[in-house]
Amino acid sequence: MNQNRRLFRYVPAARFRIGAAVVLAGTGGLVLLLEASQLAHIVDGAFIGGKSLRSLIPALWLLLGWIGLRAVLLLVSEYAALQAAARMKSELRLRLARQISELGPVYAKGERSGELVSVLCEGVDQLENYVAKYLPQRSLSAFLPLAVLCMAAPLDWISAGIMAVTLPMLIVFMVIIGQAAKKKADRQFHQLGLLSGHFFDVLRGLPTLILFNRSKAQIEIISRISEKLRTTTMSTMRIAFMSAFVMELFATLSTAVVAVFLGLRLISGELIFYRAFCVLLLVPEFYAPIRQLGAQYHAGLNGMTAAERILQVLDVEPLGWPEQPDGRSLPASSRGYRIEFDRVTVQYPDVPIPVLSEVSFVIEPGERLAIVGPSGAGKSTLLELLQGYIKPASGRILIDGTDMSELSMKWWRSQLAVCEQKPHLFPATVEQNLTLGHPHAAAKDIVRAACMANADGFIRELAHGYETVLSEQAQLSGGQVQRIALARALLKQAPLLVLDEPTDQLDLENGEFIKRSLEQWGRGRTTVLVTHHMDLARTADHIVALQDGAIVASGSHEALMDANGLYASMMNAEEHESAQHRAKAREQEGMAG
Ligand code: ADP
Ligand code: MG
Repeated sequence: MNQNRRLFRYVPAARFRIGAAVVLAGTGGLVLLLEASQLAHIVDGAFIGGKSLRSLIPALWLLLGWIGLRAVLLLVSEYAALQAAARMKSELRLRLARQISELGPVYAKGERSGELVSVLCEGVDQLENYVAKYLPQRSLSAFLPLAVLCMAAPLDWISAGIMAVTLPMLIVFMVIIGQAAKKKADRQFHQLGLLSGHFFDVLRGLPTLILFNRSKAQIEIISRISEKLRTTTMSTMRIAFMSAFVMELFATLSTAVVAVFLGLRLISGELIFYRAFCVLLLVPEFYAPIRQLGAQYHAGLNGMTAAERILQVLDVEPLGWPEQPDGRSLPASSRGYRIEFDRVTVQYPDVPIPVLSEVSFVIEPGERLAIVGPSGAGKSTLLELLQGYIKPASGRILIDGTDMSELSMKWWRSQLAVCEQKPHLFPATVEQNLTLGHPHAAAKDIVRAACMANADGFIRELAHGYETVLSEQAQLSGGQVQRIALARALLKQAPLLVLDEPTDQLDLENGEFIKRSLEQWGRGRTTVLVTHHMDLARTADHIVALQDGAIVASGSHEALMDANGLYASMMNAEEHESAQHRAKAREQEGMAG
């Protein structure tokens, strides 16, 4: 199977170990044949030959030796197989994690993260039975019955004939049941993913769900999915039990048929006791590998399905530029780079109209660029392009004249300090969160960055100041999270600062403060700023107004105001709003006075 070859190509060490496990267990199987023949020999000697117990002692020792040897072989084989599975699991986890980070935030946003987590954790874990038990058994069951047949045929060809005829029937039966079970297992795995995904989403949205009184409805949905999962699981288990039962029955009946024929010929004197007994001992061993294969197949089914999904995730092409070993880095510049968007179009695979179409503009080094526009216009998408998380469907992005496709993404991203629209803080100390982009920052730089983001004050008021571990216990407001994220971006001191709605969650006062900080920080550096706040936008050297994925205006604040388009109307709307705000404040002041 192609799938297994791919799994083992990822983990060559596992292939070697599985190979060793098969050889060891196969040798164990051959020893079993010797064991059977030895036992038949002893019984024949004792009952037919009338030998004394004493004279049989060496033969008994030999039998014991074979038994011991086989036990050791099987033990080592099992150990090797388990080791192979363990290696494969850890390697695949690593690859999946690397792949997901390579695929970037745009991919993670599109997938159901809960389902992805379920693939990463449960899916990989389920590989164990498949790799350590089913795969070695598959090789063994192709070889061991043949070995038994070769040994039985010279002893009694009639028994060998019966065995050779019945085995294919058993195999056909196993394949038919196996296919039905595989279909069920696929469904089961899918439902497990759905359930995990749903759990994850509900957990994240719990405050909203409770607020809108929908948590009960969600619990019902979860219980419905889990009920479905239960019935599917039960029916796969029923199939596995039925398969085990029928195979057992079939093997027992075949053994009985062979035994009857052996007995009849033994009585009529056609066959000597040693041969008959030896064949009788061999018959169960003939069916055993196939029976075990059936059992391991059902135990490994979930792993088989998981492997498909894992390989699927590993196959996804990154939406953005991958890190390439021969990627270029440009001469360092503390002011930033000349960034040119040249007729860039972005199209998501399952969305009919382009999210951005033929967007062209230039960011000069040291410039402050503001991107404004209604939500859904494509502003965040522009920033994702800039970070190389998505590739343009057509058009180019040039950095100091070099196409972004030629750059080393690692280098390029080291030149960017980004504060996302929905920043994420990690369950670590405030300081560790701040120094993510600059791990060896000096304490005074950390404090300075926090001060610039107006975060120093509230950080000091936390239980342990900068050493406070951010967790569910240390709840921060949305505005506080945003200010820490902003401080984190400033602390990185990269030549290019990229901000997606940095004052989104801030009150007027904090917004003013950040505006001044950014002005100060931006001197001699490049800033790209997406914002709704026109007050912040007007401080930029260059403003790009986006609507429905196209640039509707571009230029300085004055030029755009004169043009009297979208920009001017957004600006006027905000002026109107803040004038109202001021009037209200004055009114209240007046009433108080
Ligand atoms: P803005 O930041 O201006 O509010 P975005 O750039 O986030 O807008 O989104 C622009 C458009 O692209 C929206 O219509 C959004 O639905 C769509 N979009 C964003 N990300 C994806 C994605 N991963 N897959 C499909 N469509 C997307
Ligand atoms: Mg956005």
